Amino acid sequence: MAPSVLIIGGGMAGLSAGCFARMNGFETEILEMHTIPGGLCTAWTRKGYTFDLCIHWLCGSKPGTPLYQVYDKLGLMEGRRFHHTDSWTSVRDEHGNEITIYTDPDRLYDELIRISPEDTPFISRLCKDIKKLSRMETLVDMTILDIIRYIPYFSLMKRYKPTVHDILSEVKSPVLRNLLTAGFGWEGQSLFFPLMGLAMQGAKNAGYPIGGSLPCAKAIEKRYLDLGGVIRYKSKVTAIITEKNRAKGVRLADGTERYADYVISCADGHTTIFEWLQGAYCDDTIRGYYQNLKPFPPIVFISFGLSTDLSHIPKDLTILFDNPVEIAGVKQDTISFRNHVHDPTLYPPGKGVITTWITADYSYWDRLQYHSEAYLAEKDDVGRKVLALLCQQYPDLSERCEVMDVATPMTFVRYTGNWRGSYEGWQVTPDSFFLDLPQILPGLSGFSMAGQWVVTGGGIPGAVLSGRKAVKQMCSDFGKKFVY
Ligand SMILES: Cc1cc2nc3c(=O)[nH]c(=O)nc-3n(C[C@H](O)[C@H](O)[C@H](O)COP(=O)(O)OP(=O)(O)OC[C@H]3O[C@@H](n4cnc5c(N)ncnc54)[C@H](O)[C@@H]3O)c2cc1C
Repeated sequence: MAPSVLIIGGGMAGLSAGCFARMNGFETEILEMHTIPGGLCTAWTRKGYTFDLCIHWLCGSKPGTPLYQVYDKLGLMEGRRFHHTDSWTSVRDEHGNEITIYTDPDRLYDELIRISPEDTPFISRLCKDIKKLSRMETLVDMTILDIIRYIPYFSLMKRYKPTVHDILSEVKSPVLRNLLTAGFGWEGQSLFFPLMGLAMQGAKNAGYPIGGSLPCAKAIEKRYLDLGGVIRYKSKVTAIITEKNRAKGVRLADGTERYADYVISCADGHTTIFEWLQGAYCDDTIRGYYQNLKPFPPIVFISFGLSTDLSHIPKDLTILFDNPVEIAGVKQDTISFRNHVHDPTLYPPGKGVITTWITADYSYWDRLQYHSEAYLAEKDDVGRKVLALLCQQYPDLSERCEVMDVATPMTFVRYTGNWRGSYEGWQVTPDSFFLDLPQILPGLSGFSMAGQWVVTGGGIPGAVLSGRKAVKQMCSDFGKKFVY
C-alpha cells in the first residue's frame, strides 16, 4: 500500500505539497479549516466588485524559467494571462514632488535624474545594477550548478543587503531620498528585496495574473484533485499527535483524530511548533528565530468599489505625508493605493477597484474583540479616513464609493491562522537575508514543515517551493526517488 500523508493547510504551500506528494505516489489528504483553497492567496466579492488580497507580482511568470516550470506542473499556468506593469509605484509628496519608479532601468534613470542631477553617480549605479538583477532567476533546487549560476549576483546581494533607509541615506537630494524610501517600503527591510522585485517586473518575470489570486489557488486545487488527492474543508487542526517521537496524525477541533504515515504542516509556523507540538521539538536556534526575526507586520486591508472609470489614476500610488496621519493607533508616514484598473475581471464595466493596506497594531485590534460594536465602529472609521485621504488626491471620487470593505489583523487570524495577523511570514532584513528556516524539527521524525514561515520574504514562490521540498524530504525518508 502507498504511504499516506496528512497535509495541514490548503494554502499555496499545502496545495503544492499535495500535488507533488500525489505525483510521487503518496496517498494524500489536505486538512483546511476554511471553506476554500488558497489561504492568503485569496480574494472576495462584494456587490459585483472583487477585492483581490494577494498577488501583485508573481516571480517566475516568464515562460522557460525554472520556477515557471514548477508552476506549470501544478496547473497554475494553464490558460493564465499576465499583465506586466511599467512601474513599481508612483510616489507623491505634499509639496507637488512626484516620481514614478519605472521597471525599465533606462526610463527610471531619466526619471530620477530629472529630480536630482546631483545624484548622477548613485542613480547610474542603481540603474546598472537593476539591469544586472533582471537576469536573475529564482532557484528551484540549490544544486552546485545553481550556486555557480548565482555567483555573478553575490556582489549585488552584498551591496543591497543593508536596509532601504541605510542605502538611500547616500542620496544627496532630500526630495529624491524621501520619495525613493517611501516607494521602496519600510525602513527595516533590505533594499535587495524590492529591488529584485522591480528588476524581475522589468524583465517580465513577475507579472500579475489576470483574474487575480483566488483563480490561481483554484487552478492548483484542480490539479491536485485531478491527481486523485483529497481535500477536507472545515477541518481545523488543534494538535499534532506523536508517538515515540514520530508524527502519527492530527487532532481536529471536533475532537476526531486522523492518522497517516507522515505529516506536513503548511500552516502557521509558530502555532505548529509551539502549540500543536508544544515546543517539544525545538532547539535554541529555532526558538531564537521566532524570538528575533522580524515578521511582516499585521495590516488593515481596505478596499473600495467605485462607480467610476479609474483610468486617470496611477496603477500604484504612494502618498508621503509631512506629518504622519494616525489611523487605528498607528502613525502612518505614507499610504499606498493600488488601482486594479489593469484587471477588468474584478469590477463591472465603467467602474473600478482601489485597495490599500496600512500597518496595524495587533494588540489594538485584539483588545477591541472581533465583531464587537467597538470593533465594527473602528473598522468603519478606518475605511472612512482612508477614503478621505484618497479623495484628497482625487476629489472626483467622493460620492463614488459604492462598497467599502475593511479586513483587520483579526480577519487574517480568523481565515488563515497566521501568527499575530502577519501577512507574509518573515521580512528580509540584513539579519535574515536569504535565510531558510529548518523544515524538519529536531528529534521528530515523520514530519516536515512548509510555507511562508520556513523561508524569509514569504510569497508564493517560497510557499510553493517549500511544499515541493517537504515532499522531497518525505521521499528520502521513505527511500523513494523524488520525481516530478
Ligand atoms: C496583501 C498581501 C499582498 C501579497 N502580495 C504578494 C505578491 O505580490 N506576490 C507573492 O508572491 N506573494 C504575496 N503575498 C504573500 C503570499 O500570499 C503568501 O506568502 C503565501 O500565499 C503564503 O502561502 P502559505 O501556504 O505559506 O500560507 P497561507 O496562505 O497562510 O496558508 C496556510 C493555510 O493553512 C490553513 N490553516 C491555518 N491553520 C489551520 C488549522 N488549524 N487547521 C487547518 N488549516 C489551517 C489556512 O486556512 C491557510 O489556508 C501577499 C500577501 C498579502 C496578504
